[in-house]
Amino acid sequence: MPLLRSFRRHGTGPFGAQPVMQDWPGLIEAYRAWLPVSDATPVVTLREGATPLIPAPSIAERIGRGVRVFLKYDGLNPTGSFKDRGMTMAISKAKEAGSEAVICASTGNTSAAAAAYARRGGMRAFVLIPDGYVAQGKLAQALLYGAEVLAVQGNFDRALTIVREVADRYPVTLVNSLNPFRLQGQKTAAFEVVDALGEAPDWLCIPVGNAGNISAYWMGFREYRQAGRSWKLPRMMGFQAAGAAPLVLGHTVEQPDTIATAIRIGNPVNKENALKARAESNGDFMAVTDAEIIEAYKLLGAGEGVFCEPASAASVAGLLKRREEVPSGATVVCVLTGNGLKDPTTAIEHNDAKFHAGIEPDTATVAKVMGF
Ligand SMILES: *Cc1c(COP(=O)(O)O)cnc(C)c1O
Repeated sequence: MPLLRSFRRHGTGPFGAQPVMQDWPGLIEAYRAWLPVSDATPVVTLREGATPLIPAPSIAERIGRGVRVFLKYDGLNPTGSFKDRGMTMAISKAKEAGSEAVICASTGNTSAAAAAYARRGGMRAFVLIPDGYVAQGKLAQALLYGAEVLAVQGNFDRALTIVREVADRYPVTLVNSLNPFRLQGQKTAAFEVVDALGEAPDWLCIPVGNAGNISAYWMGFREYRQAGRSWKLPRMMGFQAAGAAPLVLGHTVEQPDTIATAIRIGNPVNKENALKARAESNGDFMAVTDAEIIEAYKLLGAGEGVFCEPASAASVAGLLKRREEVPSGATVVCVLTGNGLKDPTTAIEHNDAKFHAGIEPDTATVAKVMGF
């Protein structure tokens, strides 16, 4: 029986009284045997993980041929992105090692997660963000969670160089995805996908920035297959924004540029791991334009009722771009890495909604505008 089942939230439902079963304990407890933790590890958790795998019929319909599409909606983690999976591990291990402060460079979601978990673990959190290029919701989170925020001029890659040097010289733990515990935590998303489907998907479509997540998923799928939890392995299909596509171009991008700020990265930290995942899985990397990202973003919202951030929509934009190549009857999982509420500005600027302003406050006028 899939592991997730035993932790599913139960109550007294309409189909008869059921005992209230154990609540989801967070991914470290749920997957403890697969993670480098021991009884000596103080688990710092916000009950992250166990995010839904949502069927996406509108997207599947655009592909046809009996292809099934699911969205792994990791925007439903406690701070609204998959970064929580890695951060529960990184912060627990930092605490185990006696660290009192952590530092990261971030396009926003890493800083939100680092701040939340560090504060919960009683540590100080320092975050360096590229000045002016972080979505508003993410900045709000880092501030509210009590991080010390340093907005530095220059892009993410520059900020990362600085935090590496600071962590080398001073008593602070680096919690960027160079920290190996991050990927260990993140690989549990692949476990959850297999637990939910009962098998690995045929394709895994995923946005790629620093390439930590694609590397972590690949590690998770491999470990699960090795343990006999699945028979197959997915093709790893990684999608980058056209203005920030170093893995597609095969060289560093000095001035990365895209509306999808979470993947606005020119020199991916986990490049080698990602190239291995591509080769070993017979996968591929491809660029999608900002226009294609926004189209997928709107389709997810208005067609599926799922609000993700622009970077996340790159996975669906990529799938639609490669739709001809999806085998008939295949199962595809698109990873939605972050919650749409992170970046309200993009949603307000890019939608096809009808917005009627300045309506007279009377019933007849409202009905008329509604078309009655
Ligand atoms: C961090 C992030 C990514 C990119 O993940 P990598 O591991 O850096 O490739 C994509 N989408 C969102 C929302 C993110 O926060």
